[in-house]
Amino acid sequence: MSIASLKLIALFFIFSSIIFESVSQNKITTYVIAHRGAWKNTNAPENSIAALQHAIRLGCYGSEFDVHMSADSVPFVLHDHSIQGIHIEKTHAAELIKIKLANGESLPTLEEYLLAGKSQNKTRLILEIKSSSISKERSLALTKICIDMVNKTGVADLTDYIAFDFDVCLQVKKLAPYAHVQYLNGDKTPEQLATSGLNGFDYHFSVLKRNQAWLSDAHTLNLTTNTWTVNDEETMRWLVAQNIQMITTNEPEKLIELLTK
Ligand code: MG
Repeated sequence: MSIASLKLIALFFIFSSIIFESVSQNKITTYVIAHRGAWKNTNAPENSIAALQHAIRLGCYGSEFDVHMSADSVPFVLHDHSIQGIHIEKTHAAELIKIKLANGESLPTLEEYLLAGKSQNKTRLILEIKSSSISKERSLALTKICIDMVNKTGVADLTDYIAFDFDVCLQVKKLAPYAHVQYLNGDKTPEQLATSGLNGFDYHFSVLKRNQAWLSDAHTLNLTTNTWTVNDEETMRWLVAQNIQMITTNEPEKLIELLTK
């Protein structure tokens, strides 16, 4: 073998090792998801369109919100089963649209909320399908109504789904196989999630502290990883060090600062 060939081989190994090192040093970026919008530091009500708009202005990767269904099957955005003493699932939409939030906004319908999110294409809409307090059938009916509304408003490419009810998660994948779905309840292993065809998990951080192999197991299985609701800097730093992909927080401003400084 000539000296020129040996030099070429040596150069090949040097460049290979440089490329390998730069690839292996690529860190997973942690994405910020505003929990119920960016409300805490902006004085906007949780789950209001104003809170969504603040999350968009902050440049969050995603803004999470919760969806329930009226007695006559109209989806509304709010967290609890009741607001101002009115039970959502037992009240008709015509009454619910009269409810005012603290900032004067009407209680948003899912349609209004999605159309507000459609004005941009950077912040993803993280739609939580809430479990019915009345029946499993209503949870599954709400699932179809959410998917239909996402399609009707033209935000399918911008919307991801989360739910505590495993059957609801499976129903989303059945009705919208292209959709990205994360399970919330924390009682399935990464292997079980991968087998079920879901895209990943969004677990309470205490679940991830108890099961410290689950993040790397999930990444090995090509599952996405998200966690709720992380508001303190120490837990944020621990999760970022574990290469978590997304953190859902009431303090998006704090997490953005921590990730960029
Ligand atoms: Mg939620």
